[in-house]
Amino acid sequence: MSTTTLRTISHRIGGEETGGASTRMAPVHNPARGEQQAEVVLADEQDVDRAVQAARSAFETWGDVSLTSRARIMFRFRDLVERHMDEIMRIISSEHGKVLEDARGEAIRGMEVIEYACGLPQLIKGEYSDQVSTDVDAFSFRQPLGVCAGITPFNFPIMVPMWMHPMAIATGNTFVLKPSERDPSVSNFIAELYAEAGLPDGVFNVVHGDKVAVDALLDHADVAAVSFVGSTPVARYVFERANTAGKRVQALGGAKNHAVVMPDADLDFAANHLTAAGYGSAGQRCMAISVAVAVGDAGDPLIERLKQKALEVKVGPGLDENSDMGPVITAHARDRIRAYIDEGAAAGAEPVVDGRAIEIEGDGFWVGPTLFDRVKPHMSIYTDEIFGPVLSVVRVDTLAGAIDLINSNPYANGTAIFTGSGQAARIFQRKVQVGMIGINIPIPVPMAFYSFGGWKDSLFGDHHIHGPEGIRFYTRGKAITTRWPEEAKDPAHHRGHIHFPTAV
Ligand code: NAD
Repeated sequence: MSTTTLRTISHRIGGEETGGASTRMAPVHNPARGEQQAEVVLADEQDVDRAVQAARSAFETWGDVSLTSRARIMFRFRDLVERHMDEIMRIISSEHGKVLEDARGEAIRGMEVIEYACGLPQLIKGEYSDQVSTDVDAFSFRQPLGVCAGITPFNFPIMVPMWMHPMAIATGNTFVLKPSERDPSVSNFIAELYAEAGLPDGVFNVVHGDKVAVDALLDHADVAAVSFVGSTPVARYVFERANTAGKRVQALGGAKNHAVVMPDADLDFAANHLTAAGYGSAGQRCMAISVAVAVGDAGDPLIERLKQKALEVKVGPGLDENSDMGPVITAHARDRIRAYIDEGAAAGAEPVVDGRAIEIEGDGFWVGPTLFDRVKPHMSIYTDEIFGPVLSVVRVDTLAGAIDLINSNPYANGTAIFTGSGQAARIFQRKVQVGMIGINIPIPVPMAFYSFGGWKDSLFGDHHIHGPEGIRFYTRGKAITTRWPEEAKDPAHHRGHIHFPTAV
């Protein structure tokens, strides 16, 4: 296809679509066909500055808009997302490759954050203490920060930005989103829906780009806070650079999530859920299970069931309603994942199901479900985040051994245990050093009214994302102490005596 026929995806700054100053472009593929289907503009510093200035000038009025008006815009925005669900699913599936139901799932989880943000007037209430001293009251309230930036990964192009912008905007900030350059279109669609919901121009801006745009946001003097979600090396870098620039920052990183399967678990139930959690969205989820830890006698019967289930997964284009699993995001990702499978087999792990063998017509970026048995902790398929449809089974003797294994891993995003024992579950939830834990739930993504975040190398910064910690992240507190003396009661005040308060 000639590049002249390609659709160009532009920025959305101050309510307008604009190509910006930069002439750099990146290809946007259809991963199921392996073809380029569009090009996206890549911002330079000047484009980022325009977006930040638009957000800064919008903040002058948006921060003063009443709580009820802000909440009503969120209600309208939420309804528009629901009304346009089919369109959203198709945009996501065509650029990311995931199956339509996965796309619906992420849009719904994102919508739940908007629903939480609709409760802003309740969520942002301050505290009040009457008569802390004679005629003195104390109270506190929280105010927005200013311009907030969001930098997001390819794997959840609608949900992850929605962990950020509804929270930031409802609390009175303005926002610049730099989505992944691999699947950028849905962010522009969201900008249109915000405008239709009545959000003033400049409150939500989308600037497309790569490292150049990210660095410009991290260094910009008018950006008050940065929320990042992506891989661990970039999360660490973003955290350090934004922190040095004096910004508030939360940077969520990569993962290597383990699910422990106890011998007393319902193994059919566990195998069903592990298959969905390992291969859903082709394993490109930060909460995907990539290691099943089989305890004691669970190993052989679990492998037998996982093998059967992996072979049943229907791999095909995301837009085909019969597909269970779509392609991976790029040719580079496909080659990287295949190379890991090569390494696992060469290192002595047993490839029970080999996704390299998959054959699908065309040039799509395909890797089939892959299952390894007898994986050891020193192998690269265990140590590295593969971010593909590869499930490794590690065998251990005891629950304590499983917990030690998980706690030795530098990643600590999510984990799960399958068991029929309340006691085993309780020991697990108390001892495991991971931010999000599922008991007979393989992908324990917290609801919007809790906060999402891992520990260790899966999150840099103090705040988890959305929920109560999201409200705190996007606001800062003021504590006020007031005195309104009743004059008749305070003769000293009348006589003009100087009162030296007790030093604190
Ligand atoms: P990525 O780190 O490559 O990219 C994330 C964002 O950073 C993108 O917007 C990208 O343009 C930008 N970026 C990439 N390289 C950069 C660099 N060198 N300097 C500055 N900016 C850079 O991640 P990805 O491949 O898009 O997404 C997959 C990763 O995201 C996985 O590691 C996955 O675990 C992680 N993830 C984590 C969570 C979580 O909640 N912890 C959620 C989703 C995805």
